[in-house]
Amino acid sequence: MAVRSLAGMDFDSNIYLLTGEDPVLVDTGTGMHHRDVMNWLSYIVRQKKVRRIVLTHRHYDHCGGAADLARELEAEVFVHRNDARAVREGDPLQTLASMFGVTGRGVEVTEMEGGEVFSTGDSDFEVIFTPGHTAGSISLWEDRKRILLPGDTVFVGGVGRWDLPSGNFEQLVSSVKKLLSLAPQELYPGHGDHCQSGGQETILEALNYLGEA
Ligand SMILES: [Zn+2]
Ligand SMILES: [Zn+2]
Repeated sequence: MAVRSLAGMDFDSNIYLLTGEDPVLVDTGTGMHHRDVMNWLSYIVRQKKVRRIVLTHRHYDHCGGAADLARELEAEVFVHRNDARAVREGDPLQTLASMFGVTGRGVEVTEMEGGEVFSTGDSDFEVIFTPGHTAGSISLWEDRKRILLPGDTVFVGGVGRWDLPSGNFEQLVSSVKKLLSLAPQELYPGHGDHCQSGGQETILEALNYLGEA
């Protein structure tokens, strides 16, 4: 299995591990369940082997746990440059930390712009720039296995919100269309269910709700 998932607890986003010789962690939850996340990781891999953490976007439910995980795993944290400042500074409004009743916490990040490839040894995940939910939202795409991790851009049963700081409806629609055109089979969104087949149909349904398909 190329993707292992930890379903989001409480306010946490889903957390994914791209497996292989050199695994990659995708999103971190709020950090409120740091120990549970570490335990889950230790079941799958030796903890020290996770050297890279990719954040799909700036929101606290995805990046709040990054500081503790990065320190404990000694991992590098990656985020799109449009969301980098908010995450680096732990900006409570821009990351929505204040919505979760916390002040927010910064973490050192390496900026991405799209097109980067994260290789795990047996899979190659490409960063696709998919703004709209936030200005720096990204998706991860494995072309050979047709696996998509869209963050909060699209879900099983709908699309992401576009009314939060730096969100943009037209960009979101165009990003969802871009993801649809990849024709994914497996889909692992930032919240709720994932699906291991019919990913493209699932995205088409989400677009239909918007009347934009
Ligand atoms: Zn989220
Ligand atoms: Zn979000």
